[in-house]
Amino acid sequence: MPQARVLIDGPSELVFDYSFADDVPVVAGCRVRVPLRNRNATGTVLSVAASTDLGFALRPLTSLIDPQPLLTKELLELASWIAQYYGSSMESVIRSLLPEAVRSETNSAKSQKMACLLRIPSAEDILAIGKKAPRQQTILISLQSAPDQKMMIAEFGSGAHASVKALEKAGWLGVVDEEIRREPDADMQEEIIESFPLKLNDEQHAALAAVCKIIDHPEKPLLLLGVTGSGKTEVYLQAARYALSQQKTVLVLVPEISLTPQTVRRFKARFASLIDQVAVLHSHLSQGERFDEWHRIRTGKASIVIGARSAVFAPLPHLGLILVDEEHDNSYKQDTAPRYHGRDVAVLRAHIEKCAIVLGSATPSLESFHNTQQGKYQLCRLNNRADSHSMPLVRVLDMRLEKQKQKNAHAIFSDKLRQALELRIERNEQSILFLNRRGFARSLQCPACGHTCQCPHCAVALTYHRTEERLMCHICGYQSIVPRKCPECKDPAISLHGYGTQKVEDVLGMILPKAKFARIDADAMRKKNTLRDTLNAFKSKKLDILIGTQMIAKGLHFPNVTLVGILNADIGLHVPDFRAAERTFQLITQVAGRAGRGELEGEVIVQTCTPHAPAIQFARRHDFDGFSEQELEFRREFHFPPFGRCAVLTVRSTHERRAEFTLQTLHRRLSENPPPGLQIGEALPSPLTRSHGQFRFQITLRCPQARPLTKHVQAVLQKTSLPEDVIATFDMDAINFS
Ligand code: ADP
Ligand code: ZN
Repeated sequence: MPQARVLIDGPSELVFDYSFADDVPVVAGCRVRVPLRNRNATGTVLSVAASTDLGFALRPLTSLIDPQPLLTKELLELASWIAQYYGSSMESVIRSLLPEAVRSETNSAKSQKMACLLRIPSAEDILAIGKKAPRQQTILISLQSAPDQKMMIAEFGSGAHASVKALEKAGWLGVVDEEIRREPDADMQEEIIESFPLKLNDEQHAALAAVCKIIDHPEKPLLLLGVTGSGKTEVYLQAARYALSQQKTVLVLVPEISLTPQTVRRFKARFASLIDQVAVLHSHLSQGERFDEWHRIRTGKASIVIGARSAVFAPLPHLGLILVDEEHDNSYKQDTAPRYHGRDVAVLRAHIEKCAIVLGSATPSLESFHNTQQGKYQLCRLNNRADSHSMPLVRVLDMRLEKQKQKNAHAIFSDKLRQALELRIERNEQSILFLNRRGFARSLQCPACGHTCQCPHCAVALTYHRTEERLMCHICGYQSIVPRKCPECKDPAISLHGYGTQKVEDVLGMILPKAKFARIDADAMRKKNTLRDTLNAFKSKKLDILIGTQMIAKGLHFPNVTLVGILNADIGLHVPDFRAAERTFQLITQVAGRAGRGELEGEVIVQTCTPHAPAIQFARRHDFDGFSEQELEFRREFHFPPFGRCAVLTVRSTHERRAEFTLQTLHRRLSENPPPGLQIGEALPSPLTRSHGQFRFQITLRCPQARPLTKHVQAVLQKTSLPEDVIATFDMDAINFS
């Protein structure tokens, strides 16, 4: 008897072998029911093998849940890579691959009883029936004119069953069960107007050719570095069309569905004639809808899938092309276990499935860009805006001077920005105001000279810890007292800084009482349709100004926006994170890219207290190459990614001392027999020292290679039994150090 290795559902990560009869089609990726001790359990078959003589009989499988395997060999291979690379349990990875809606046995395809006409009644038949049974007559007449002469029985109204039965008995119609698709968004279906391919410019043409080439003959991933508005999306659309023409399927990953409505709409519009083949996976799907979409994808009925991070696991057969839009976006990293990076998993999936992958961005991550320099990825560039408009003019305004001029240390709007806003309202043009509000860890900055307190060893800003009244470095553990005056210029006004979107709204209402504006941020996101409604209001010019956080930095395209103001460009610059400069550069460049996307020229005003910060200056000149060259130099020097890997080990507990003590134990054990090149940071309180009532402590680890790092940490975690209420989490390739 053959045997199957089964991963049991549930957090315990149990794997057992079971036998099964030769004639049961069990293969890897099947879902099965099995006996487990004295209960029944469900699980996923990881592999099957011919029987081996173990000297004892294996228990047999109870039954197969689905007739077909739900996971392909390739997806199982991907799962096992993720589990090893990120140090996550295989069970948690499988759970990401098979959404609850698909695993749950309570979900199933929804079917409807349909009546189909079997014989065409003549006029006399109809009359004759009508005399005896008017209801039957009505049914026959409606069926005759229905598409395919088929209707749902429910459509005949209540109490039609007897009539349907009678007609069935008389041989007029047949009743069948038919699967129907629960249409996502059925209630908010907007009209889609088909769009047609544009004539590409030379740069786009070259890019498309390169993508088609790897669709035909997959090789390295392709990084498409195109400035904002360079027409990357048009290249994606035409590449997707080509893949479909080759009978291949397409997976499109976007940072967040609700924040990229325009990208989704453009795909729907371009493939309007194939709209049934487009599946959009977003978080608002009901379990039933998710179930249906998943099976539509698996059976090849949907050949284009658009979704956020988790769509990377969409079970598309014949995958030919993966597009990762805004590949630098942080939302691709999952912040709960398994802590995978959607872009990196996509790259691996493309490798396993032997399909083309394109990573697109105006501001690629340094990891991806570095890979092009190393020859691991191919680079393709779009250096000009597609509609031959020039890049917007970016002005950098020194808020230190502004605050002196206005004699207000808390001034939010410079005079220039206020005037620029007024001008837009006069001219009936629109503006976007952007507030970079990241993290809660605050740093100390001098309003007079712009100095921020930095770690002398790590080139990151020190974080202020209120409870200890200290500044700390979250990379190496360096600590210092909180200076009473600026260490540079001795100004005593040095202070913590930061303000929110609500404050901006208040001030705006005072200085521009006539302006119509709305705010988009996490609070505004909470209600389901607020975001969409606000964006629509802005699009239809019911609003003059849109205020938002980094949420509005993504793929939005409003032709009437001619002014973008960035209120506090440097707040993200002084957070304890080696990617601070990269993020600031990306944000300014992306936000600035929202200006001047129509016929009118765009202007960007960047307010900052550190106007000379390289990230700001390079963004001002739209100079990705200059920025990446300088930033990569810094990363190399300090062994930060992409030169080596960086991970965070976090321990949390409601009991502060216990959490701290556990982390110290782990720290000690990590220092025993470390793999070559491992750099272990200090055990320190996390910047977010307490969350959900739990105290958090963390260690930052750096290592030239990923695998030895993960293996070492996993080994230490395995041999350390954690106190009951202490939880340890490991985040490989961490992007969040708070
Ligand atoms: P990106 O995705 O790089 O930010 P988009 O694809 O949004 O750029 O393109 C910006 C604008 O340029 C869009 O309005 C798009 O319709 C237009 N566009 C793109 N390609 C072309 C082209 N070849 N000819 C004319 N307009 C184009
Ligand atoms: Zn340091």
